[in-house]
Amino acid sequence: MIPLCIPNMAGNEAAYLAECVTSTFVSTVGPFVGQFERMVSKVVGTPASVATSSGTTGLHAALLAAGVQRDDLVICPTLTFIASANAIAHCGAMPWLIDVEKQSWCLDSALMAEALTRETEARNGQRYHIATGRRISAVLPVFTLGTPADMDAIVPIAREAGLAIVVDAAAALGASYKGRPSGALGADLTMYSFNGNKTVTAGGGGCITGEDESLVAKVRHLTTTARVGADYDHDVVGYNYRMTNLQAAVGCAQMEMLDTFIAAKRRIAADYRDGLKNLPDVSFFPDPAWGKNVYWFSGFFFQSDDGAERSRSLRAFLRESGIDARPFWKPMHLQAPYADAPRTSVEYAENLWQRVVTLPCSTHLSRQDQDRVMEAIRTWFRQEGR
Ligand SMILES: *Cc1c(COP(=O)(O)O)cnc(C)c1O
Repeated sequence: MIPLCIPNMAGNEAAYLAECVTSTFVSTVGPFVGQFERMVSKVVGTPASVATSSGTTGLHAALLAAGVQRDDLVICPTLTFIASANAIAHCGAMPWLIDVEKQSWCLDSALMAEALTRETEARNGQRYHIATGRRISAVLPVFTLGTPADMDAIVPIAREAGLAIVVDAAAALGASYKGRPSGALGADLTMYSFNGNKTVTAGGGGCITGEDESLVAKVRHLTTTARVGADYDHDVVGYNYRMTNLQAAVGCAQMEMLDTFIAAKRRIAADYRDGLKNLPDVSFFPDPAWGKNVYWFSGFFFQSDDGAERSRSLRAFLRESGIDARPFWKPMHLQAPYADAPRTSVEYAENLWQRVVTLPCSTHLSRQDQDRVMEAIRTWFRQEGR
């Protein structure tokens, strides 16, 4: 089977792990954790970062540090991985689901502005959702597939409404927007994931970065049991969300490969675009001119009305040919835990997700294997396609 997206351990991973074992620094105290945080800060353009046990736990702590409280609403694109909505729910808050825009598959800023005008009111300097009576405390843009959302549009709308901004840039490490790195686009805090299927992995893990060092320090406090001083003194309910030195050792080795990995991801996407561009009814993933997309995933979607059915048929055919291919995120408004979450204009995402075909895109995918994938797709089009 040619897998969809698996880790590439071609660097110093084994050597750094051996250092952890030899030195006995396997837990959350150890030199690789700080080194990993500095490497991430440098890439994303922020003065400070906190490594966490996962992207989801990091996002939870980031939302709390940004001021999200129980019963609040947090604006969230409906097209995302469920971890974004779950982190909101872990705060006791609820997502307010809004559609993504066609050109980026990221939060639609115009819809968000409209929804804030039409569906909310200001009371004592806070913003409230009229239908549910809930306070709206933050917005959580997601950098879908490794491309930044239109932050120059989103940030002023959020600030005008008094909302905190926490970005889920889980798979967007190394991306940029109008020449600026993805951690320095006006958000309060930004999350990156180092889960096994991300371009750079730590086995599992996350990193929260921000331009305001005192806010990042607050995240660190929350993720390290909110301990004050050296004794058993804790000032709030904290969390054990730390990254271990073992994870960070793998993460540091992977970070050394970041540029190579991103170049591979972009080349793979370009080769699919080039090799499949003449197929009818096929559109490629969005790549807005405002940013550098790091192409976490490669693939395309069917435009036609029966696109969902065609995508299913092609994916089944590819799997029979020994090639892993999948749909994309099922939107949050269609997920059981968020059946009651408020939503505004979710049609584009609802129409899109089942038409998508994600294709093998591991950074060490060989040219030969990629040609095999494209040949199988052409065969399906000849047999079943139009
Ligand atoms: C991977 C991913 C996450 C979750 O990160 P974990 O490290 O697996 O907890 C969150 N949001 C998005 C958009 C992701 O792709």
